[in-house]
Amino acid sequence: MTYDTDALVIKAQNTGENDRLVTLLTRKYGVIRAFANGARSPKNKNASATSLLCYADFTITKTAKGICIVKESTPKEVFFSLRSDIIRLSLAQYFAELSGELAPREEAADEFLSLLLNAVYLVSDSGKPLQLIKAAAELRMLSLAGYMPSLLGCASCGIYETDEMRFCPHSGKLYCADCTPPEVFVPVPNSVVHAMRHICLSEPGKLFSFRLSDENLLLLCDLSERYLLAMTGKRFATLQFYKTMTR
Ligand SMILES: [Zn+2]
Repeated sequence: MTYDTDALVIKAQNTGENDRLVTLLTRKYGVIRAFANGARSPKNKNASATSLLCYADFTITKTAKGICIVKESTPKEVFFSLRSDIIRLSLAQYFAELSGELAPREEAADEFLSLLLNAVYLVSDSGKPLQLIKAAAELRMLSLAGYMPSLLGCASCGIYETDEMRFCPHSGKLYCADCTPPEVFVPVPNSVVHAMRHICLSEPGKLFSFRLSDENLLLLCDLSERYLLAMTGKRFATLQFYKTMTR
């Protein structure tokens, strides 16, 4: 069986003497793991395309035993400017790790791959605040993976919005002040509620097109991260590293 698809390398591990085991987010088949024999040799034809965070066209064959092997590859974008900025690189690596957790497997991942590519592109080469890109990528990836928070109104009485809504990062539910349960809930200004709705519901091309004050951006970033950690129940090494670098 042969796969022909474009993909972003979301993980690259050394294996054997000179080989790589890559995890790819492919457009046509979702997340795939494949061996690239000899790819750590600089002269190898697959050396560039199988590097972490390289976007490329791949031809992959699957053996009778179910092992995938990279046969051909043509790099399309290596995000060169990322490589010289450790903070931006670590954020892009976090998006890659997140994709490995949340992206589809053995089914098409067109929208997920486009989202990841846009996020990595914006991190590498735009003036947008990194907190905005991070929160938008997190919430949108969660939404695509079936964890969209319930943002269309108070989870109890259904009112669309009041002056002081509250968000529960453990359940993803929104409440008005009258209905807020006794647990710890975070007051959320309407501008942040609007930004969260925009992230979850906008057309893909407009996802990153919103603005917030610095203070509200920090709140959005904190809420989206807490919600993500609650939904995935995971610790992401790349997120820890990014946060260490930006502390
Ligand atoms: Zn209510």
